[in-house]
Amino acid sequence: MGLTPMMQQYLEIKQSCQDCILFFRLGDFYEMFFEDAKIVSQELELTLTGRDCGLEERAPMCGVPYHSAETYISKLIEKGYKVAICEQVEDPNEAKGIVRREIVKIVTPGTLLEGNLLEDDKNNYISCIKRINTGFSISICDVSTGDFLVTSMENNNIYIIIDELFKYKPSEILIIDVKNNDILINSIKEKFNSLIELVDESQNFTEFKNHFGEKISILNELELGSSLTLFEYLKNTQKSMLGNINDIIKYQINNYMLLDSSTRRNLELTETIINKTKKGSLFWILDKTQTSMGARNLRRWIEAPLTDITEIKNRIDAVEELINNIYHLDNLRESLKKIYDIERLVSKIVYGSANARDLVSLKNSISELPNIKITLQSFKSNLLKGIYTDFDILEDIYNLIDISIDDNPPISIKEGNIIKKGYNQEVDKYRLASTEGKNWIASLEQKEKEATGIKSLKVGYNKVFGYYIEVTKANLSNIPEDRYIRKQTLANAERFITPELKEIENTILNAEDNLLKLEYELFVDIRNKISNQSSRIQKVAKQLAILDTIQSFAKVSIENNYTKPSLNNDGIISLKEARHPVIEKMINEPFVPNDCFIDKSNNMILIITGPNMAGKSTFMRQVAIISLMAQIGCYVPAKSANLPIVDKIFTRIGASDDISSGKSTFMVEMSEVSYILKNATSNSLLILDEVGRGTSTFDGLSIAWSVVEYIANKIKAKTLFATHYHELTELEDKYSCIKNYSIEVKEFDNKVIFLHKIKRGKVDQSYGIEVAKLAGLPDEVIQKAKEILSELENSKEIHISKNILNDKLNYNNKIKENEKEIAAEKVELTLFNYKENEIINEIKELDILNMTPMQAFNYIYDLVNRV
Ligand code: ADP
Repeated sequence: MGLTPMMQQYLEIKQSCQDCILFFRLGDFYEMFFEDAKIVSQELELTLTGRDCGLEERAPMCGVPYHSAETYISKLIEKGYKVAICEQVEDPNEAKGIVRREIVKIVTPGTLLEGNLLEDDKNNYISCIKRINTGFSISICDVSTGDFLVTSMENNNIYIIIDELFKYKPSEILIIDVKNNDILINSIKEKFNSLIELVDESQNFTEFKNHFGEKISILNELELGSSLTLFEYLKNTQKSMLGNINDIIKYQINNYMLLDSSTRRNLELTETIINKTKKGSLFWILDKTQTSMGARNLRRWIEAPLTDITEIKNRIDAVEELINNIYHLDNLRESLKKIYDIERLVSKIVYGSANARDLVSLKNSISELPNIKITLQSFKSNLLKGIYTDFDILEDIYNLIDISIDDNPPISIKEGNIIKKGYNQEVDKYRLASTEGKNWIASLEQKEKEATGIKSLKVGYNKVFGYYIEVTKANLSNIPEDRYIRKQTLANAERFITPELKEIENTILNAEDNLLKLEYELFVDIRNKISNQSSRIQKVAKQLAILDTIQSFAKVSIENNYTKPSLNNDGIISLKEARHPVIEKMINEPFVPNDCFIDKSNNMILIITGPNMAGKSTFMRQVAIISLMAQIGCYVPAKSANLPIVDKIFTRIGASDDISSGKSTFMVEMSEVSYILKNATSNSLLILDEVGRGTSTFDGLSIAWSVVEYIANKIKAKTLFATHYHELTELEDKYSCIKNYSIEVKEFDNKVIFLHKIKRGKVDQSYGIEVAKLAGLPDEVIQKAKEILSELENSKEIHISKNILNDKLNYNNKIKENEKEIAAEKVELTLFNYKENEIINEIKELDILNMTPMQAFNYIYDLVNRV
């Protein structure tokens, strides 16, 4: 026994797409066989059956109906599979032998064109990386919008590659397989949930050049490598000419503010740290866009703040102009609201998956363009004027759709009712034939009743016999035998046809048949005509996206009372009454605004102390976010703002649960700090929160101290440094560029009140127990903790002399053991009735002065669980 011919065909096709699940079209189903069938039946909970394949054992098989395949495909893609769609490519009735089948498309997470996996306000990227000893390049594409970008660097640092990838968060990452890239591959696998594939570098240069023409002459060899390989991969998955990818854009990584991956996360730019939701992120606050194109553009701008002062000013000036012209702003918002996602519509048009409704959506969108152009006319700012000058209102495309496509067409493009009357004479002729025929039949009943005198005579229609005349048995004697031809006998009636009726019926059916075919052909022709203009529509889409983002900035600035930032080249951050744009919207109490002044000489490093929950992180993050907002071109939440151009923002903000975990967290912390120290410049902004807390107090303090000194002496970056090590405040006396700040707290009625106000100077107290109380620890525990603390504080022997500290900080490393011993032995406490010895002894050993409030909190928490 051998394999059946169909199975041979299956295996041959499967051979060409081993890394995909093969959806093999059999009639109305897509079937999967063998291993694929087992995987899919498990992943999608489908029944696994079998099919004779010519061998002794049946081939495992499972299938899904073709009309609902999209849902199943989406699920598989989400689970990280690639799906190859294999269709019958000839009419089974005309096939000689087995029907020809071909893979028409490979669906992968990074190459989606439509469907529920595409989010409106998010690009869906695929990227390709080439990394060699001397550098790397990254190419990035969103097939659904046609964007294709490429960049490179003469530096092969893995961190830089990962940071750049984080800007895009691609859902699929291709890595060109070259030697010695294991660390890169592993790091990418660790950091991204995306589908990651090793690929060979493509050599298919000619086709690439034919597609992009002279545009590729600016690419260097590295960039050619990654972009060519990505292009080839896309062509192979889409099985198409990639007609919507009209441009290739080369950019320099250093022309944008560098944000490392942890900074993007820590500042919650597009999603929150904990829930990973848009709500609570900067994007959420700033998003007043009216179109999906605008929302995606806003997201891209947030991910890539500018460093060119002229470009930034252009955006800010445009925002100002809209703020000053509320009437125009409102008009613009009204028009934009009516515009569909024409960027993705164009892609659907180009790839031939757009239906007539999509074209009507495009037309309706285009109908708003003249209004927008009129609004733009009065603007003077460079950016808005620039858009006005070459704003194409796509009149020809509007007219084409308007004269040809019905205003309310059906979803299907094969069932007619698409083409408007008057567009095509043939269509009109067929329609006329069909309606006239139907009218003739409609009048036939009356005519025949009169001719035969049979009052109950009826004209009807069924699918098998077509039109007929029905006469009840009682009236059969009155029929004109010569004209009526008997067709069907029922229980008490007979059905007849006449030659005339059949002739008209033929005309109707032929007309309808021809009409369907012709309407489909005309539709495809119109779609192709629009497809040929795709780059014009894409250009308008890009302009609309920018316009929408600018108006979103204007709107949010008005609503939230933001101010226009001025920009300086002197490295000065001067903020008056600044706020955190997100926190101010999330809390119920009023937000307390704070000033911030940082310059290159006297106020370069701010050491910020204050108890937990006082508002240190909020303050530091708000400075970083305000800098970023200014550099994307937005107004900022402050009374006044003067800001320098920051080249990089780094943040090292420990998640609160970092503290309790072990060494690995400390390793992560230290490698992040090391990355910052290696890459920050005097134009960078550093936000360092609790550096060193992941290790023992002395180690941590020593590290924090020397990090601050290194920044003060070597890097000279603007730095906000929050710490629990109060000893660090002594650095102010040593360095003129370091200043102490603290967040004000008031004690009232034995309680702490957080004022959230930043002021010059340091604080001496940690208020750890008060914070623990706020967090809801039982009164008894709080009471005892206070007693312990006060006993410990009163005990004169608990004194860590400054000398020891200085010894430590001078890396002397000689800790005088006898002085370190804490004399808590004398503290006598009758704490608990049981386990007292053990616990009391442990408390006696406690080095509470050197614990952070959080460590104290964790300790008390632990105690509560044990007593
Ligand atoms: P810390 O870093 O000092 O532990 P956070 O910055 O995390 O404190 O602030 C703790 C909470 O205090 C915030 O979640 C917010 O609710 C509130 N908060 C912080 N700063 C302010 C402020 N300026 N005005 C009002 N509330 C604030």
